[in-house]
Amino acid sequence: MNDYTTANTVEEFRRHLAEVHARIAAACAKAGRDPATVRLLPVSKTVSEERIRNAYAAGCRTLGENKVQEAHRKWQAMADLSDLRWFIIGHLQTNKAKLVAEFASEFQALDSLRVAEALDRRLQSLGRPLDVLVQVNTSNEDSKFGLPPEEVEAFVKQLPVFASLRVRGLMTLALFSDNAAKVRPCFVRLRELRDRLRQSAPDGIAMNALSMGMSGDYELAIEEGSTIVRVGQAIFGARKTPDNAYWPDVASSTGE
Ligand SMILES: *Cc1c(COP(=O)(O)O)cnc(C)c1O
Repeated sequence: MNDYTTANTVEEFRRHLAEVHARIAAACAKAGRDPATVRLLPVSKTVSEERIRNAYAAGCRTLGENKVQEAHRKWQAMADLSDLRWFIIGHLQTNKAKLVAEFASEFQALDSLRVAEALDRRLQSLGRPLDVLVQVNTSNEDSKFGLPPEEVEAFVKQLPVFASLRVRGLMTLALFSDNAAKVRPCFVRLRELRDRLRQSAPDGIAMNALSMGMSGDYELAIEEGSTIVRVGQAIFGARKTPDNAYWPDVASSTGE
């Protein structure tokens, strides 16, 4: 268990959001970056509707969710918050592509042509495009989803046929560790891969976004070039659900 404090009220959410924004700004200053180049994506998995509504009142307009059905349920329940956008950041099975096509504003975990094909087909029939990021496994752990770095270039070359997918960049989960010397290389690997792909990516494929960094490591990720940090617990509070409910087979992530 970690010591992230729980936010329930609008006031508490305002405080947590201000704190995270301040730390993003400080990390940017340290790295000589403009804070406007880093987008905060609050991650609301396991969080109840009532608390999400308070986070919305405190200013959240985008939310990341790992599981499609949980996200879809919340989207339906909060359809009255018409400017709230939902981002899917977890592995997708093709049989749930229909749900994602229906409501998601961005899908950050593309890692197979089957999923690309299924999503594109659903999106075509709805006549809507979807921003996507390709998930890369930068930690070499079997347990994590995402393509091995050396397969990404060939994968990306096959994406232009999926006309409804707007490819924006890459996403990764770093190694779970308190040791920055082990975490940092994952972020460096993603950035270097992105820089290489910028040269080779086919027309229509943008390679700008780097979604990397979570509550425990987002400052490090910003130092290494992150443009989207996905932060759950530092905003909402410690999760009781073990992480292996979201990242199957990850040995319970107790630092190192
Ligand atoms: C849960 C989750 C996060 C956020 O993790 P926290 O520790 O809550 O900040 C980021 N990315 C993905 C893919 C997640 O599933």
